[in-house]
Parts: sequence; C-alpha cells; structure tokens
Amino acid sequence: MMTEKKQIMSNDLGRGFNLHKKEYEEKAIEILRSGWYVLGKEVEAFEQEWAAHCGSRYCVALNSGLDALILAFRALGIGEGDEVIVQGNTYIASVMGITINGASPIFVEPDEHYSIDADKIEEKITKRTKAILVVHLYGIPARMDKVTAICQKYGLRLVEDCAQSHGTTYGTKMTGTFGDIGCFSFYPSKNLGAFGDGGAIITENGKVASDIRMFRNYGSKKRYQNEVIGVNSRLDEMQAGLLRVKLKHLEKLTQERERIAERYLNEIHNDAIILPMPRTGPGDRTVWHQFVIRCKKRKALIDHLMTRGIGTLIHYPIPPHLSEAYSYLGHCKGFLPITEDYADTVCSIPIFNGMTETEQSKVIDAINIFEK
Ligand SMILES: *Cc1c(COP(=O)(O)O)cnc(C)c1O
Repeated sequence: MMTEKKQIMSNDLGRGFNLHKKEYEEKAIEILRSGWYVLGKEVEAFEQEWAAHCGSRYCVALNSGLDALILAFRALGIGEGDEVIVQGNTYIASVMGITINGASPIFVEPDEHYSIDADKIEEKITKRTKAILVVHLYGIPARMDKVTAICQKYGLRLVEDCAQSHGTTYGTKMTGTFGDIGCFSFYPSKNLGAFGDGGAIITENGKVASDIRMFRNYGSKKRYQNEVIGVNSRLDEMQAGLLRVKLKHLEKLTQERERIAERYLNEIHNDAIILPMPRTGPGDRTVWHQFVIRCKKRKALIDHLMTRGIGTLIHYPIPPHLSEAYSYLGHCKGFLPITEDYADTVCSIPIFNGMTETEQSKVIDAINIFEK
C-alpha cells in the first residue's frame, strides 16, 4: 500500500526508483563489484540496446544531452559563420549546442503543438544556413514531413533534440531517426532518466558515429594517440547499467504517462486553461515528458495549486533569446511574440511514474475549481 503524502510534487523521482527498486539495487551492486567503472560492457550493451530501440544503426553514449548537441554540430562541421535554425521556445541547452561551436542560432516561432512552426522556416533560410535543429518539446513530435522536405530542398543538415522525446514517434518513425543525428539526454528527470548525468547520439552515419566516439575520449581512437582536440564525455558503467534496467520498462512507463495525460485531457474543464495538443496523425505518439497547460493568470493558478499542496514548474520562464547569456545577439522583448507569450503563460502540472490515481484526481479537481 502506497502511503499518500499530503504534498503532490511536480515530479517525484523516488517514486520511479521504487517501481523497480530491487532490479536497480541488484544492478548497482553488480557494477560496484565488477571492478570496471567507465566505458565498458554496460555502456556497449546500452548503446546497442538504445540504437535498436530507436531503430537506428549507431548509438554513442555520452555524458549529457548538452554534450550530445555540441558534438553533433561539431561532427557535421558546423561552426563559425554558420547559421542554425531552431525554435524560440526551447530549453537553453538546445541553443548552447549551436553557439558553443561558434555558429549562430536563428529563431523561429513555435506552432500550437509547441514545436517549430514548419511554415515559418523557409523565410529564415539564408546563404549561411547550414542546419535545422528540431526540438520535440514536452514529448510532442514536430512536423517532420515538412521539416525533412525543407532540409532536402535546401540541402540542410537536420539534428533532432530528443532530450524530452524518448519513444516519441511521428508517423510511426521514432524521433531522432529523421535527420543526420538524434541527441538524447538521460538526466534523471527525463523519461528515460539515469541516476546521474548521461546522454547519447544516434545516427545512421558510421563516420559521424566514429568521430563522436573519438571526440568523447580526448580525440583518441587508440590509447595515447590523439587525432584531434577532444573532450571527456564518457558515460560511466553505473549509469549505463541502470539505464538498461529502466529501458526494459520504458514502454510500460510511457503507457503510465499516457494514462495520466489522457485523464487530464478528458477531465480538466476550465475556460481559463488551455490544454496541450498532442499530434494525432496516424502513428504519431506523444510521450508526455511534461503536461503543459497555459493560463493568462498563471501566478494566481500556481498560488491556487500551491495552497492545495500541488507543485508546478515553468518550462521555461525566460526564452533563450531574452536570457542574459544571449544578450549579445541583440534580441529585444517583442522579437518572438508567440514564444514570449508561451514563456509568460505555460505551467507544467504533475505527471510522473508512480503518481497515484488519487493524486491525479486531486490535481484535476483543484484545476477545475480555479476561478479566473
Ligand atoms: C534536458 C535537455 C537538454 C540537456 O540535457 P542535459 O543532459 O541536461 O545536458 C537539452 N535539450 C532539451 C530540450 C532538454 O530538455
């Protein structure tokens, strides 16, 4: 019997751990006793299993999602003087993956599904445009038919930020497999979350895979022979092993998120709230990394939920183009009105593995009695 706490946190990672506690603990002890801790059998097995799960040829495990993005653009030779198109409403790491390589982000507004508005991409393409970075934000797939057609038409590279879309499909094809490289994060709160930092890229391109494999280990393929100046972005055995345990359960865990989201979509009725819109084409699947509602009176809504013991988060309150880190780009408020409106009104309500039905009902009831 699960003991109900009074507080419903916006996310509760301990619940997810408890669902398969014994398996995680056994794997952890096995790895502690193995005497091998960084880049080993577990990492190799995880790379194979994750590539197979995604339907991709190669997977290279890395230390974080940001590293996956940084090394993806580096492997594609994108840097100084190049432009990369990206949606305005994303986590800042997407943009850092571009700018750390010296390239410039060109922002495009999102559509009503929170992904890049594919109809607004072409007007931003210049001679310098080298790539599009698509973010499947909150676990909702972007319009990949249109995006891939644009990439083909203009000869652009395509990178996918799948940090929030483990298992998301667009027309039955997994996100991460539409373009040159798919980038994943396994940060603990992600749908496939480790118990520390982790990331990976997937690709069909053997050269890209072997280059990124070299970058992650000081630019070395053979020990003490360094071909380029690399980084240390190795995944450790503990994270890889624990990810393998979670991966076995990922489908079930995703279905649990889908059931919670289904209840929210069916049972939240309040004119002051805009519910998220998953894509509903044949084969499309949203994995509900976050369940993001919008409300013009967001502050009042958050306070209302808080007094009822319900935690919320904002993903994300400051869009990258208005953050201090990117002040050098010279973008002012009003530059991306839709992105900025989303930043002012979005609110993520609790959705996590191990959330009880009673807790879900409490969230629904509390939102339904919120008055404008
Ligand atoms: C989490 C996240 C990242 C970064 O992943 P880390 O593993 O934290 O470096 C990048 N992009 C998006 C959209 C994310 O949500």
